[in-house]
Amino acid sequence: MDRDGVINEIVCFPELGVLDSPLNPDQFNLLPRVPKAIKNLNGLGLKVIIVSNQPVIAKGKTTKALFKKIREKMTKQLQTKGAFIDGEYYCFHHPQAKLEEYRVLCGCRKPAPGLLLEAAKDFDLDLTKCYMVGDSLIDVEAGKKVGCKTILIGKMKCDLCKLMDENGFMPDWIVNDLCSASKIIAKEERKND
Ligand SMILES: [Mg+2]
Ligand SMILES: [Zn+2]
Repeated sequence: MDRDGVINEIVCFPELGVLDSPLNPDQFNLLPRVPKAIKNLNGLGLKVIIVSNQPVIAKGKTTKALFKKIREKMTKQLQTKGAFIDGEYYCFHHPQAKLEEYRVLCGCRKPAPGLLLEAAKDFDLDLTKCYMVGDSLIDVEAGKKVGCKTILIGKMKCDLCKLMDENGFMPDWIVNDLCSASKIIAKEERKND
């Protein structure tokens, strides 16, 4: 699954007129019902893995140290509710990165499927049996490229449907939040039993 907009709120920076990833732990807030959703997925015996583009360090908006603190806050908040993330994969690159070390055209920035492939290798997963959950087109696209079933989170996202249809990246399901996604996954998994 993607992280921002799926697990945690996307942060609004009104002074810049943009929405962005949290840049420090104070800006990191779990979305409603997320611990419950992840707990559901843990209970199904599935691996819960984050695959997320995070160019915020490359762009000089935050630091490695703050990024680590955000991850720690996430883990702790989930753990206290009995929810567990099995793996976290991040792409820190950006083609126009301010910091040179991150300025590359990589194979892991979604919609490229690099992070998904890496996770599949590490966890020995058959990607055609995996679900990619995200709140952006690029999540659906990355998932589709490697044969995952795809779930798009978004309320008003069907303005995107035409575009997705044209590009051949229609999600298999569209839901309101991760908890609804976890229910779909539970239902699908029961079918496979
Ligand atoms: Mg997102
Ligand atoms: Zn990358």
